[in-house]
Amino acid sequence: MDKKELIGLSKDELAAEIAAIGEKPFRAKQLWQWIYFRGETDFDKMTNLSKDLREKLKSVFVISRPKIITEQISADKTHKWLLEFADGQRIETVYIPEEDRGAVCISTQVGCAVGCKFCHTGSQKITRNLTAGEIVSQFMIARDAYGEWPSPTSETRYLSNIVVMGMGEPLHNPDNVIKALKILSDGDGIAISKRRITLSTSGIAPKIPLVATELGVKLAISLHAPNNAKRSQIMPINDRYPIEEVLAACQKYQDVMGMSRMITFEYLMLKDFNDSPDDAKELIALMKKFKLGAKFNLIPFNPWPGCDFQPSSNNKVHNFSRILEAAGYEAPIRVARGQDILAACGQLKSKHS
Ligand code: SAH
Ligand code: SF4
Repeated sequence: MDKKELIGLSKDELAAEIAAIGEKPFRAKQLWQWIYFRGETDFDKMTNLSKDLREKLKSVFVISRPKIITEQISADKTHKWLLEFADGQRIETVYIPEEDRGAVCISTQVGCAVGCKFCHTGSQKITRNLTAGEIVSQFMIARDAYGEWPSPTSETRYLSNIVVMGMGEPLHNPDNVIKALKILSDGDGIAISKRRITLSTSGIAPKIPLVATELGVKLAISLHAPNNAKRSQIMPINDRYPIEEVLAACQKYQDVMGMSRMITFEYLMLKDFNDSPDDAKELIALMKKFKLGAKFNLIPFNPWPGCDFQPSSNNKVHNFSRILEAAGYEAPIRVARGQDILAACGQLKSKHS
């Protein structure tokens, strides 16, 4: 019989497994700390458990990591892993270091069904959802690499933030994503604060309120166009969930989280498509209509082999930013990271066909 993987079980599920082998509840707590606070994968090293118990655990459970197929570090220190799971499926995970902190960008699906025209991942059809354990273990791989076990305090950790912005549409896999983020933010283990976790979605409107009610993490929306006609051209999902539905769902998020919990609107700058002053003005009118606490993140387009779009000129991007800022919205321009190793936004892909 296959041994059961412990990574990805919720606290309650782990407690039930431990009860099922006849052990007391505090053993589940100890195990949780070994797995998620200390990052231990070897039962033999769990020194506060008796030898008998360690043997018993070893005979039924495993604590594993995905296989690292390749690992690349770019000129700007962005770190990318190509990981393989038990069934041979592969995804990419990226760590983006800043001066004294950094974000781990995690994937939620193998491929993506949304098929945005500008996205490398979207050109690879969906294969399957990742399990909660597969999502959590991406972060654990990064912690292994940077030696951040036992979990440091939030002031001293380099792997301080999580962005759910890797491969896949997280709200097409909400159950596993919610379960994984609960594990990653649990205070007895990895303990990344919910204020340091951002979930980005292409706009699966009916699921957006869950980001507030089930999780309480930060929300980012891949908007990329100021009206439905343009958005549908680059994001086919817009036919299913048009801008108005997405923004109404954002209002529900802020009804729960409060207006001060700003929603970030990601806006990809595509040359001669959505980068004119009129586009910026239309965007402002849209935001005013829905009265959202919003800020923008202007994303320079990252090219990938086979894609026809061109990035907007620096001038246009700065001008666009100035117009939004004059209307009272923060609109920083995102610095592309890890482009030389195809680790930047929209460049991730696990199959090179
Ligand atoms: N599926 C989710 C999360 C992953 S994508 C989503 O779409 O929001 C993370 C961000 O990268 C999104 O804003 C996405 O639109 C953007 N992106 C996709 N392709 C890109 C490209 N070629 N250059 C720059 N950003 C891109
Ligand atoms: Fe999927 Fe996001 Fe890429 Fe669109 S941008 S294809 S939703 S991963």
